Amino acid sequence: MARQGQKHARIGSTCSRWPMNSLRQNPLPVAETAWREIDLSAIASNCRAIRAAVGQGTKIFACLKQDAYGCGAGKVATLLSEAGVDAFGVVSIADALAVRKAAPGKPILMYPGIGPNAVDLVRDLDLTISISGEDDLAGWLATGASLKVFVKVDLGFWRAGVAPASLRRLLDLCASQGNVAVGGLYAHLSEFGDAGSPASAQVARLTPLLEELKTERRLPETIMVSSSESLLHHPEFDMGAVDPGALLFGLTRSSAGRRVLPTRPALLAIKARIVALKTGHDSMGTPPDLPGFHPDMRLAVLGIGWGHGVPRHLRSSASVLVRGRRASIVPPIHLEHLRIDVTDIPEAVLGDEAVLLGSSGAARITLPDLAKAWNTDETGVACALRESLRRVGVAQQFKPNQKEGE
Ligand SMILES: *Cc1c(COP(=O)(O)O)cnc(C)c1O
Repeated sequence: MARQGQKHARIGSTCSRWPMNSLRQNPLPVAETAWREIDLSAIASNCRAIRAAVGQGTKIFACLKQDAYGCGAGKVATLLSEAGVDAFGVVSIADALAVRKAAPGKPILMYPGIGPNAVDLVRDLDLTISISGEDDLAGWLATGASLKVFVKVDLGFWRAGVAPASLRRLLDLCASQGNVAVGGLYAHLSEFGDAGSPASAQVARLTPLLEELKTERRLPETIMVSSSESLLHHPEFDMGAVDPGALLFGLTRSSAGRRVLPTRPALLAIKARIVALKTGHDSMGTPPDLPGFHPDMRLAVLGIGWGHGVPRHLRSSASVLVRGRRASIVPPIHLEHLRIDVTDIPEAVLGDEAVLLGSSGAARITLPDLAKAWNTDETGVACALRESLRRVGVAQQFKPNQKEGE
């Protein structure tokens, strides 16, 4: 996975790396003690790869839930509008507000979540709501508002969405209302892995219904069932639109499917500074129960903790990089702080950058490595990070002959 010839150039900040040993001459690159580095150009490039794969005939609804998978919904919506996505999908009002501000003219589909008490915002922000059943529809109808609607069908996820058997009745009910415009019909396929039905069996529950509706000339304009996993594994599910999330952010193994897309991760690094450094002393009393403790242990304290989204219960086998070397984490993790063992890195000094994700010298912690240490997947890492962990924009430059996604 080593990326030869890769450089990082920071955008919009005056930061430079702290040279080896000197503290006074080198101002902090950012005031924060911890930050994440995000390459927005990766998202634009991933989007272009998806467009090239699905072609012009299929719309792209960019799923920007959870603040665009931790990358910042506003900035991401701006760049994806420019990159030519057709619409956006979100769950929360906060994300809808950010996207609407950044992309005034684009449709925004609200996935199931908000209810009729949000009707004023739905009107003001021109949002398309999801309808998953008759009760759902009745609640919205009671507001008397004109509604733009996508009907959601549950093909085997066992979450939101109307059962295939009740779809026609729900569409009939919508059609009988003068103020309900059904612009789309969509599903989110199950990600239960081996449990539940395979993707093709899920889509097979919809196909005959689509054919009937088509014959009756009442098929909604946009039909959409495919997000990241099925985009990679089932090109035949593209239909009228696709709504990828994780894939846009390079959080999915893109070379494993029938389609191989040159995507790359937008989340490049998670870093924190050494904010305290010490060797224990008897005058501090009995040492607390620190895994691996020995009297000569040299501890560094990083300015990052579970308040920034680092898991609270990390094992001591988890490590970070300091000056190109690995240092073990010394649990427990605190709200704002995390201890590491730098006994074997005597050159470490106050202010040094420690790398939780990314490269330090020749050493590297990749996103899959970190996901494993955090007992989650890549999306789990990106979406665990909290707002308090500041985002710093970086751009990755590739040599012209280097393949993206290597
Ligand atoms: C999260 C979500 C998506 C995007 O899923 P990915 O696997 O991240 O591509 C699409 N549609 C719905 C309804 C979702 O909830």
